Amino acid sequence: MAVLKEEYDIVVVGAGHAGCEAALASARLGMKTIMFTVSVDSIALMPCNPNIGGSSKGHLVKELDALGGEMGKNIDKTFIQSRMLNTSKGPAVHSLRAQADKQDYSREMRKTLENTENLTIRQAEVSEIITENGEVKGVKTFSGAEYAARAVVLATGTYLKARCIYGEVCNYTGPNGLQAANHLSESLESNGIPLRRFKTGTPARVDGRSIDYSKMFEQKGDDPIVPFSFSTDPKDIQKEQVSCWLTYTTPETHRIIRENIDRSPLFSGSIKGTGPRYCPSIEDKVVKFPDKEKHQIFIEPEGNYTNEMYLSGMSSSLPEDVQYEMYKTLPGLENVRIVRNAYAIEYDCVNANQIKANLEFKHISGLFSAGQLNGSSGYEEAAAQGLMAGINAARKLQGKESIILDRSQAYIGVLIDDLITKENTEPYRMMTSRAEYRLLLRQDNADLRLSEIGHEVGLIDDERYEYVKYKKKKIAETVERLKNVLIGANQATQTVLAQWGSSSLKTGSNLAELISRPELDYEKLKSLDPEWEDLPQDIIEQINIEIKYEGYIARQEKQVENFKRVEGRLLSEDIDYKSIKGLRLEAGQKLDMFKPRSIGQASRISGVTPADIAVLLIYLSGNK
Ligand SMILES: Cc1cc2nc3c(=O)[nH]c(=O)nc-3n(C[C@H](O)[C@H](O)[C@H](O)COP(=O)(O)OP(=O)(O)OC[C@H]3O[C@@H](n4cnc5c(N)ncnc54)[C@H](O)[C@@H]3O)c2cc1C
Repeated sequence: MAVLKEEYDIVVVGAGHAGCEAALASARLGMKTIMFTVSVDSIALMPCNPNIGGSSKGHLVKELDALGGEMGKNIDKTFIQSRMLNTSKGPAVHSLRAQADKQDYSREMRKTLENTENLTIRQAEVSEIITENGEVKGVKTFSGAEYAARAVVLATGTYLKARCIYGEVCNYTGPNGLQAANHLSESLESNGIPLRRFKTGTPARVDGRSIDYSKMFEQKGDDPIVPFSFSTDPKDIQKEQVSCWLTYTTPETHRIIRENIDRSPLFSGSIKGTGPRYCPSIEDKVVKFPDKEKHQIFIEPEGNYTNEMYLSGMSSSLPEDVQYEMYKTLPGLENVRIVRNAYAIEYDCVNANQIKANLEFKHISGLFSAGQLNGSSGYEEAAAQGLMAGINAARKLQGKESIILDRSQAYIGVLIDDLITKENTEPYRMMTSRAEYRLLLRQDNADLRLSEIGHEVGLIDDERYEYVKYKKKKIAETVERLKNVLIGANQATQTVLAQWGSSSLKTGSNLAELISRPELDYEKLKSLDPEWEDLPQDIIEQINIEIKYEGYIARQEKQVENFKRVEGRLLSEDIDYKSIKGLRLEAGQKLDMFKPRSIGQASRISGVTPADIAVLLIYLSGNK
């Protein structure tokens, strides 16, 4: 029987948040690319929360944007509410979060993909990877068609052997009733890629007309709105926004859950997959925190096109009759009408210990993996990996070095390093606490940290890069200048300080010292600055942060110097750790399994002690 045969540079399996970024990066870097999905109507689908960003996830989106990715631009075109979170805390944890119109988000991303040169979109289930002598050669679809390629990016998300469960009901489908991908898992396993089962869950969607908002707390969007993308002009996105609403569970909610916990597939054992600790179901929360009187629940709109509302914080897999009972106990939901039941989804994913820092499998050259398939959870985590996998697949074919961001450069570096060196036994979700250098890895300076790399790769154009260079120069010059603008303790100074409720000066000072006071900043001291310049807001923001956090930043930069020293001690992939004298057995086995890239990475593998690192350093100095 004749089969369809086509040839591409790069195949991307998946059109979720990882697949979209990988396919766009690959095509924009000149690779003839084909992207597969089981349904083109589900491109960039948001099967769970209707928002992009939030704590640490906002950082990932800003970094992805600074490198030339698409998610930031796409949400700036399709958001319906935007808020900067954690503004009462320091800039390191300020995080942008935007509510999306889910259908608009998918439609906009599809439009971008469909109008990208070098990119073909195909609705078909990939059922096999084709490999030869440890190299990927392409894929086969369920219809038998063959697509030859020199690199393949797998971004299959929550679809591999997916199973959706609530109560006693189990559907062998992907999210939202979409077709599951039931054939590729065998092919991956027969190519020496072991798989495991993870799970995640989502809350019900309810009819907004059945909600009594007068019993809830309204949460409005910010004014002015801050864009996600550094390429978006803030003036272009100021618009009317929808509200979200806050309500709480009650002791009655908790009683109903406890009384029906035996009917929860999570607790009856019919769900085998491991779920995310930091995105727990309501059942988990009630069982794990029995003393907590109430849990916050946010009611979020799914879009402007529908009355459907998302019950954030109440993901569950309890039977639908129990879902109704428990949702009705929340203030404002007494007459609630469920549109879609809450459910849990189980799916196959890989253990990311078998991939390298460039997201390529260690034992199959040219095969890359990104997103939920790598054991992460979240749109933003997936998109960040998709971008890096797409870039590195293209650079492999271009014969260029891979782009590997380390933990001191980006949250993306922390994300990938944690996925490939830690033993993650549950879906990995990014958090600011995971980034040891988070004061340097702020969302506001992602362009200063990463756009040079994005430009070198070829995804950031000259105009954007020129602006980043200008911005860097202007910040450095201005901070230096402000340190040398001497301010006398005279009447004019005291008047300005009093105007802003700042204590008067006893002796002379300089502008930088004054700006470092919490209640003062570059704009407030305009009248005291003879060379004051009306700079763009994003530059002024950096000047204020650089001056106000100078000491902390300097200390963290010192820590990064130490980090880079051990991170720079690279390790060859050929070292036979088990043969190194003095290395403990467990350490030898772990190092052989992980094949760390550097001494720094070796030191982060659990089971490898500082003593083992000392033995390794002696071995290395002996084996120049
Ligand atoms: C029910 C549910 C609840 C969730 N809850 C949360 C949560 O609470 N918190 C959170 O952070 N994240 C949650 N997520 C996860 C979030 O949706 C994912 O993290 C994100 O969508 C992952 O993006 P991805 O690109 O890796 O995969 P996905 O968005 O899942 O996209 C996978 C793509 O691959 C395609 N595909 C798969 N296999 C094949 C094949 N063999 N051939 C062709 N195409 C294929 C699919 O068609 C799809 O386009 C949830 C997801 C679901 C489904």
